[in-house]
Amino acid sequence: MEMFIDGRYTPALSGKVMDVTDPTTGARFDSVPLGDAADADAAIRAAARAFPTWARVPMTERVRVQKACAQALRDHAPRIGAVLHRELGRPLPGCIGEIARSADLLDIYAEEGLRLQATMALGAAPGERTMVTRDPVGVVVAITPFNYPITLLMFKLGAALIAGCPVVAKPSEDTPLSTILLAELFHAAGLPAGLFNVVTGARDLGEALVAHPVPRKIAFTGSVPAGKAIAAAAAGTMKRVTLELGGHSAAIVCADADLDRAAAAIIRHGFANSGQFCYRVNRLYVERPVYQALLDRLVAGVRALTLAPAGGTGDLGPLVNARIFATSEAQVADARSRGARIVAGGDRATGPGFDGGCYLPPTLIADATPDMLIMREETFGPVIGIAPVDSPAEALHLANDSRFGLAGFVFTGDLAKGLALCEGFEAGSVWLNDIQRSSHHVPFGGMKESGLGREKGRYGVESYLEYKTIYLSWEPPL
Ligand code: NAD
Repeated sequence: MEMFIDGRYTPALSGKVMDVTDPTTGARFDSVPLGDAADADAAIRAAARAFPTWARVPMTERVRVQKACAQALRDHAPRIGAVLHRELGRPLPGCIGEIARSADLLDIYAEEGLRLQATMALGAAPGERTMVTRDPVGVVVAITPFNYPITLLMFKLGAALIAGCPVVAKPSEDTPLSTILLAELFHAAGLPAGLFNVVTGARDLGEALVAHPVPRKIAFTGSVPAGKAIAAAAAGTMKRVTLELGGHSAAIVCADADLDRAAAAIIRHGFANSGQFCYRVNRLYVERPVYQALLDRLVAGVRALTLAPAGGTGDLGPLVNARIFATSEAQVADARSRGARIVAGGDRATGPGFDGGCYLPPTLIADATPDMLIMREETFGPVIGIAPVDSPAEALHLANDSRFGLAGFVFTGDLAKGLALCEGFEAGSVWLNDIQRSSHHVPFGGMKESGLGREKGRYGVESYLEYKTIYLSWEPPL
């Protein structure tokens, strides 16, 4: 497959390509261009050409186009979901679900566009007015990771387009194909050329996009080190940044919690997408009186999950590549060497259907201590660390003793205590007593090193707009 620039499929100017592999088998099944700075420049220039016209298109027309793109996405969810399944390895139903849910976010952003307002202060003297209006920031670079490539791109693309900004997207090296298909689909659905361009390549392509003088905003989802490098590089030209970075989210289970409900939510959320999930439950702090009872429920829940072998079905696919797998493997080995108990999983799955991919069964590490990697560093794999605590206050202290601040989870039968814990969490989103899907209408993002800025809902759209104050004066005729 080729890149999609200015409404056309395009090879890299160098002619180079890179392989796309199937994580369930490790076998190459396609290739994409290995783009470099010259391709970045071509895509950014196409976006810059499209910008002045799109910025003047009336909001109602932008909304019509965006809703047409959303419908096209729904109509083609099985086809794009199948490609995503192939490049990511996640079982097919979850991939189709991701596409359909992304369409909903496009619609919500479109509706937020209709609600955008400018203001005019009423306190001015006769013959004077002061208007505060909003301008689109300009060309946006969207850099995304592999784990939810369509959803995480839509966080950015839907907000940018409705605000009047063209986008140059760089998907992850692991999952470029679904994003390219999306650009072609949106163009066919009526999105004018140059508004959604996709370039493919490695980290140096991302660096070239960030360093380019034309874009006015970088919207990035990915790891903390990459986010820091991008923020530093973007400062060179004072580009706006939105950074959605890593997480190491904690759940607190109090002695008065509904343990069945807590265990079900933790398993569902901790092992979704094989744990390749930024705000998943990564570590648990459980009050001692219910520690063993919760462990028993978690172990039983984990035993009911299945691995999906190559060509087969199941709950968990492989990890996307050996680099991502290595973190889980190292955290399990570290916990073992420091005396933790591996009460479920822990060893790579092998045998027919598994040997070609990096499969790790859902893994529970009991009696984890604060010095262990599992309790300090993001895993991005199907491993949860679990520690007993003596009080909710101790649990909150341990939960917040982290450089990350993406999400938190609280389970207790006492609403007042639950609210106090939610308010005490240093995290961008906190859930009490269950873990529903994150809503498209409310802000999503991280505190501390988990990021900068917020996406989704009107908060997401506003980050693609600049305030502009216009002072008017005239000679009053009356
Ligand atoms: P990654 O940071 O390695 O790569 C993400 C993207 O950034 C890729 O497209 C990559 O090519 C590009 N990139 C890397 N370094 C760059 C640089 N210096 N300049 C420009 N581009 C660069 O992340 P990954 O391994 O693909 O994804 C996993 C990470 O993403 C995890 O840390 C996870 O927590 C995070 N994540 C965060 C959220 C969130 O919303 N907070 C959501 C999903 C994933």
